[in-house]
Formats: sequence, C-alpha cells, structure tokens
Amino acid sequence: MLTVAKFGGTSVADFDAMVRCANIVKDRADIRVVVVSASAGVTNHLVTLSQQILPVPEQQSILGKIANIQYAISDCLPDKDEANVEIDAIIEQLAQLVTEQNTLQTAKTADAILSCGEQMSSRLFARVLRQIECQGAYFDIGNVMTTNSLYGKAVVDTQALAVNCQQLLTPQLQDVVTVTQGFIGRDSMGNTTTLGRGGSDYSAALIAEAINADDLQIWTDVVGIFTTDPRIAKSARAIDEISFGEAAEMATFGAKILHPATLIPAIRSSIPVFVGSSREPQAGGTRIMETVSSKPTYRSIALRRQQTLVTVKSPAMLHASGFLAKVFAILASHELSVDLITTSEISVALTFDNPPGSTQAGITQKVVEELEQLCDVRVENNLSLIAVIGNGLLRSQGVGTQVFDTIPQANVRMICHGASDNNLCFLVPEHEGEHVVQTLHDNLFV
Ligand code: ASP
Ligand code: MG
Repeated sequence: MLTVAKFGGTSVADFDAMVRCANIVKDRADIRVVVVSASAGVTNHLVTLSQQILPVPEQQSILGKIANIQYAISDCLPDKDEANVEIDAIIEQLAQLVTEQNTLQTAKTADAILSCGEQMSSRLFARVLRQIECQGAYFDIGNVMTTNSLYGKAVVDTQALAVNCQQLLTPQLQDVVTVTQGFIGRDSMGNTTTLGRGGSDYSAALIAEAINADDLQIWTDVVGIFTTDPRIAKSARAIDEISFGEAAEMATFGAKILHPATLIPAIRSSIPVFVGSSREPQAGGTRIMETVSSKPTYRSIALRRQQTLVTVKSPAMLHASGFLAKVFAILASHELSVDLITTSEISVALTFDNPPGSTQAGITQKVVEELEQLCDVRVENNLSLIAVIGNGLLRSQGVGTQVFDTIPQANVRMICHGASDNNLCFLVPEHEGEHVVQTLHDNLFV
C-alpha cells in the first residue's frame, strides 16, 4: 500500500499543527510521500509582494511577517539553528527577488517569489518529522515536476513527471518519507513555475499518479466534504462517500475544498481520494471513489461567489456559423476558461470565476475590447453561482420544479442544466446567494 498525503496551509500553519500532521504520517506506515502547502497566510503575502510595487518599508514589513510565521515554527525545533539558517537563506533570496520584481515586473519572477512559501514549509516539515523519529527527507519537487513556461498557471508534463519520479522518487520510497512541495514546478529552462492558487492538491494528485500510489489523502481543516458550507447552513453535514463524477462537479463549482483539477489524475488513474481534518484525524472524512454504495438525488449544494457574467450579442450570429469559435478563440488567447454557458439565437452568456487574490487572468478591458470587434458585450459582476450536485439530475422527474419551487423569490439570472447528470447550476445576485443555499439545503436535505 502506497499513499501520498497532502497537508494544506492551515495544517502546516504553526509548530503544533505540523506536529499533528507529522503524527498522522508516523501512525500510517503507508504514507511514503508528503506534499505540503505553504504555511497559512504566507502565499497571500507573497502574492502581494509579487503583484504590487510597495514602498520599501511596507515590503520589509511583509517580509518580516513571513519570516515570523516560519521562525515561530523553526524556533520550536531541537535543531533550530540549522533550521533558521535554511529559513534565513530563503528569506534573503526572497528579498532579492522582490527588489528585482520592483523593476522587472515579470510573471517569471512572480513565480519565483510565490514558490518561497512551500520551499520553507517543506523544509520545516521534514525537520518536524525527524523530531518525532520518523525518517523524513526533504525533496525538491522541481526535479520531477516538469512544466511549460506559462508562469502562474504552468501546465505539467505528466509523462516527464512519471519518468522523473521513476528515476528519482520511487527508489527512495522504501527508505524515507519524502517531504516535498505542492504548487511548484520547473520549466525546461530551469525556472521555477507555479500551478495556480490552491495548486498543491493537484500536485499531490499528479505525484500519486506518477508513482502509482494506491491512495491520495488530502488533510485540511475540515472533517471532509460537507453537504454545503456549514457556515451558511447549520444543517450541513459531512459526506462519507462520494463518487468521482459528483466530486468533480463539486470541485469545479464548489466551495473550494479541493483544487478543481485535483480529481483529473485521480479519476484517470482510479486513485481513491480521502479528505479529512488534520486536527481530528480520528473523526474520519470523505472518501471519493469510482463507485459508491448510495447515490442520492441531492448530494450537496455549492456556492461560488464573485462570478462574472459576460453576455455577447450579435445579430450576425443568426444562422451563421463560426461566431462562437471566434469568441472562444479570443478567450483562449487570454487564457480565460469559461465555467457556464447558455446561448440563444443571437446571444451567448458565459460565466467566469474571478476570485480575489487569484493569480489568474480576469475579464480585462482588453478582452472586452477584442470581443467588441465582434459583437455587443455586456459584463455583469456581483453574482453567485449555485450548484446543486447529485445523481440522476437529468433523469429524475421534477428536479427543476423541486429546486426552483423552493426558492420562488430568487432572482435567477442564468440556469445550466442538461450537460451533466450530476449538476444543476444557476446564478443569483451575490446578496441573495447565502439565503438561497440555506433555503435549498433545508428543503432538499431533510
Ligand atoms: N500555497 C499555494 C496557495 O496558497 C498553493 C496551495 O496551498 O495549494 O495557493
Ligand atoms: Mg488548498
């Protein structure tokens, strides 16, 4: 049995959290690879440093905050002097990169900056493991995670990854617990790349696939995937088992428990995924698998805020072909990916995810101007996407009625139903979102 375990930012936020995770690893002999995120808060600071040219004192203050998060961990270690030397070196390198970025402003330097969080947390975690007498060895993921040079959302070459892992990672699985970084890759020129915010889950899934692992564990701060966000609906409860199909819809449209791409390698290679809380490992969690024993019509409801709806309208579309291809070519050239789409005879409505702090491109003025060469463009913000996830949503009679009769007051802006048996999605104004989710959950999950 070979397991890859990934620990998220809150799970490696401080010394106690790291010790809890280290004990999970020690207790489970099958965990041979550990993938970590940056300690909570660090990547956000790094995003600020990489995106804004701040006055020097402000930069210093942010660098100080990052350093303090890490020193608070290294200072608790028996080998704290050595640990501090490692952290110092990365902080110094980071300071240089920030200075460079002030003049260069490149996506390449931004990625070098963003990678510093995982570089520090993984070094610290390997030390914490050794402190509790578990043989942990730091491993530089750049040596195997080969990507293209699309900085900020680099694409991994999975074949190269598999070959590299075979050479460099597999031989050491027996002897040590490999501790490595999520989120980071390296391009063919040897530059550091990143896979997009929250990408550590995806890294872990890719590594699990590359080394033929039997299991992927994602340890976070919640005891699994919930029927909906418990902060929104008190009646929310953890889900024991969920199928790949449902979970993929949830990860794409859902409450961001997993990075949306995480399940792609897992599904492709049939690797079951476990999601649990590193605070309460005994509390169980959610298992995501190919086949599950129960298939309820309604499994969960997800709310995704900050959606942008773009409506493009052109009378030229009437009976014409190729219009959509042109629209999508423009979007593709800006690396924008569409979430939902509906069309009428002369217009198309498209939604885009636009989370704050995202390193991904949004609908910029430039995109709008390019689309305007083709058609009329309307951009609406402040919308929330609600996804009802379950089984047989296309077959079950009355799903549409059940859902929409429950929320007669809602100002539904767009509905997508028909593409997936596992998903019915719609948009409402952001201020209505939570109430709609509560009402739906109270009625559909009794
Ligand atoms: N540290 C990165 C982020 O915060 C990657 C991750 O945690 O998954 O986005
Ligand atoms: Mg995460």
